[in-house]
Amino acid sequence: MKNKNTLTLKLDKMATSSLQSPIAKKLEGKVAIITGGASGIGAATARLFVQHGAKVTIADIQDDLGNSLVKEIDNEHIMFVHCDVAIESDVQNVVDATIAKFGKLDIMFSNAGVAGKSISSILDVDSDIIKNVFDVNVVGAFLCTKHAARVMISNNTKGSIIFTTSAATVVYGIVPHSYAASKCAVLGLSKNIGVELGKYGIKVNCVSPHYISTPLTLNALGIAEREMGEKWFAEGGNLKGALLDEQDVANGVLYLASDDYKYVSGLNLVIDGGYSTTNVAIGEAYKKLFP
Ligand code: NAD
Repeated sequence: MKNKNTLTLKLDKMATSSLQSPIAKKLEGKVAIITGGASGIGAATARLFVQHGAKVTIADIQDDLGNSLVKEIDNEHIMFVHCDVAIESDVQNVVDATIAKFGKLDIMFSNAGVAGKSISSILDVDSDIIKNVFDVNVVGAFLCTKHAARVMISNNTKGSIIFTTSAATVVYGIVPHSYAASKCAVLGLSKNIGVELGKYGIKVNCVSPHYISTPLTLNALGIAEREMGEKWFAEGGNLKGALLDEQDVANGVLYLASDDYKYVSGLNLVIDGGYSTTNVAIGEAYKKLFP
């Protein structure tokens, strides 16, 4: 009996000490730029990267939000630089400012994006909206890669470039046409760039989430409350009892950025709880015809 109690005590101590031990830092010594880092997925990734030892530059057009994230963390590990990713001089400036403050660039997380208008017919598409969505989502991705690769190649950095694409690259009809087309363009771009940059040891990957109730989605869908969006996405999702959030995507980005997975390049990491593997329409039609 005495032995059993001693063993229990030892196991309790081990459990407590493992809970208290610091997390293994997967990005110690790395420097990252996160575009669209002031909000949503980008902000969650910035917090996670800093926890894992990285120095981070947030590049965004929302100055107040970006600066308040720097205040929340600290000036030593994170900085904010105003940057519209569709403007080349802004992107060049954010890369140069990162080199000036942190000395190098290991990770470019090209994440800034816009959704355009909520789902509408091809008969109603507006060329100004298409151009804006492509300017930010596609031209922005090109420019971020160009300027990240410029410094990674010249510094001989075996870097990592990651794009936020979307589940809309693998399942269709769930988002506006211009948005789906832009994300598929970025996926194609990532694969082509991955071939060119492989010889420099630079990994290029995509992370493709399903719906999350961030400002981008809620505004595009005209949903006022985060809870309402979450209710809808939970109802429509495939994996029940779990709800996708920004942290899940940040974890995926960490996986692609860290050296633990140094040989992963050319991947489209779909984070959708298996939604894109389903086709519920045939099941619904069956239930209607044979109730
Ligand atoms: P969000 O609205 O929280 O964040 C988007 C950020 O991008 C904002 O901070 C915004 O200011 C910034 N941004 C917009 N235009 C910019 C520009 N021209 N230059 C620099 N920054 C700009 O939304 P989010 O959901 O976190 O979006 C991040 C990325 O995730 C986007 O690329 C989006 O398309 C993608 N995504 C989102 C979902 C979702 O359901 N939320 C799903 C799949 C993919």
